[in-house]
Amino acid sequence: MGEGEKSGGDPQTLGRCRKCGSIYPVQSTASGELRPIGTDGVCECGNDSFEPVSE
Ligand SMILES: [Zn+2]
Repeated sequence: MGEGEKSGGDPQTLGRCRKCGSIYPVQSTASGELRPIGTDGVCECGNDSFEPVSE
């Protein structure tokens, strides 16, 4: 219960496009996938699969 409904903004992480390697700030969806912020949910290359980046 109470999952993902905090006010004041969600923590952002970085994700890397699995196809071209571009890095985007991403947020996790309810299904556990990574979605880039500020786009339609896809990379500029058209790929929509991202992997987490650990710094
Ligand atoms: Zn890409």
